[in-house]
Amino acid sequence: MKNNIQLEEAQNLLLDSITPVGKCLVALLEASGRVLSQAIKASTSIPPFSKSALDGYALIASDTRQAESSAPVQLRVIEETRAGFVAKEKVVSGTTIKVMTGAPIPCGANAFIKYEDVIRNGDLISIFRALKAQDNVIMMGDDIERGEVIAHKGSLVTPPLVALLAGLGISQVPVYAKAKIAIMSTGDELLDPSEELQPGKIYNSSLYGLMARCSEMGAQPLDLGIVPDEIEATTVRISRGLEKADIVVSTGGVSVGDYDVMKDAMVGAGAEIIFWKVAMKPGSPVVAAVKDKKLIIGLSGNPAAAMVTFDLIVIPLIKRLMGINNPLPDKIQGVFADNFLKASSQRRFLRAKLERKDGVDCLKLTGAQGNGVLMSMIGCNVLVDIPAGSGPVISGQSVSGHIVGNITDAFHKEPAFTQSVVSSI
Ligand code: AMP
Ligand code: MG
Repeated sequence: MKNNIQLEEAQNLLLDSITPVGKCLVALLEASGRVLSQAIKASTSIPPFSKSALDGYALIASDTRQAESSAPVQLRVIEETRAGFVAKEKVVSGTTIKVMTGAPIPCGANAFIKYEDVIRNGDLISIFRALKAQDNVIMMGDDIERGEVIAHKGSLVTPPLVALLAGLGISQVPVYAKAKIAIMSTGDELLDPSEELQPGKIYNSSLYGLMARCSEMGAQPLDLGIVPDEIEATTVRISRGLEKADIVVSTGGVSVGDYDVMKDAMVGAGAEIIFWKVAMKPGSPVVAAVKDKKLIIGLSGNPAAAMVTFDLIVIPLIKRLMGINNPLPDKIQGVFADNFLKASSQRRFLRAKLERKDGVDCLKLTGAQGNGVLMSMIGCNVLVDIPAGSGPVISGQSVSGHIVGNITDAFHKEPAFTQSVVSSI
């Protein structure tokens, strides 16, 4: 068992010990937000045939070679076609077929001219300029060539990819199965929010927060409930989780108190401890164990510590289980927009929010940083990484952080007009 290791070592040790869960096929609309379990190769081209980019006439470009504004060329209209239909006639020299946007290029034609550029008289059109082959033709395969890889294994299915898959006639998408994450909270003091509060007891917040985080990640949370601070009961609950889930996560009972039974319970369930304690604050007493290639991660009971370590250690595991290629949080460099006056003998993660001001990425603390302070997790999308041995961190200092939440609202601009002006008539 390793002791007091660096976060990166902990992340890599755990990531190396798991492989993605199973694969399945899901309907197109359910695929958005999932991860591809295989590369997608185009079985047809998009568009699957060359077609008209506009409403106009299909013709042979060389027929218009002599056309000038003072000496128009005349072509005879022999048919009319539109998107969804194939022209029956062949365009031969001196003839043309009227088309609407999206109509397949008629046989024999190699260019289109738009309605506005011709003058029609009966079944004759006059053309006043020369065209080149392929003018106004959207060529077959212009978007995607048959055989092209349009998305790689491990990529996230986004709405544009859903559109492309649909465009290729794919209605069932190969994705990784959802990871099942069993979560339990240990503590004799815990009550479910549905129960009446009792003296000395507190509501179990972590279980719900972590399950919600799992759902947000597209994983399937399994509720293992509250477990009393007893080895036996904890062992039984871990074993139940291992039967049903890909990873078991617990909160509480990982420190050195008399009732901190998690390590013993993991061993009791037949697991081998990989490490105990990660050199970071909050949440240092993380314990990780493995049984039959399944991981059990015990997090600190302090609610904010549990969430921070869940984001930094467990979410990468969920991402790996679900096939995501780069599961570790992205890093960001920014300007600290606060004063944090405590020294940090240990490496410390501060809950902050990214705000872009005049093109500068500012990292502003979201509130008090105590182990149990959940309020500052709200709005937190970056964990600022303060190295061990640092003094106070002051405003304007350059800092780095790990992105753990949605940062899109950092770039959100206030609308130019917040109120619409209604003029009376
Ligand atoms: P522990 O890690 O079990 O020593 O718990 C540390 C602190 O977090 C104690 O004050 C606990 O009461 C509190 N705590 C533990 N688990 C939870 C939980 N699931 N929800 C809210 N607070 C908790
Ligand atoms: Mg406890």
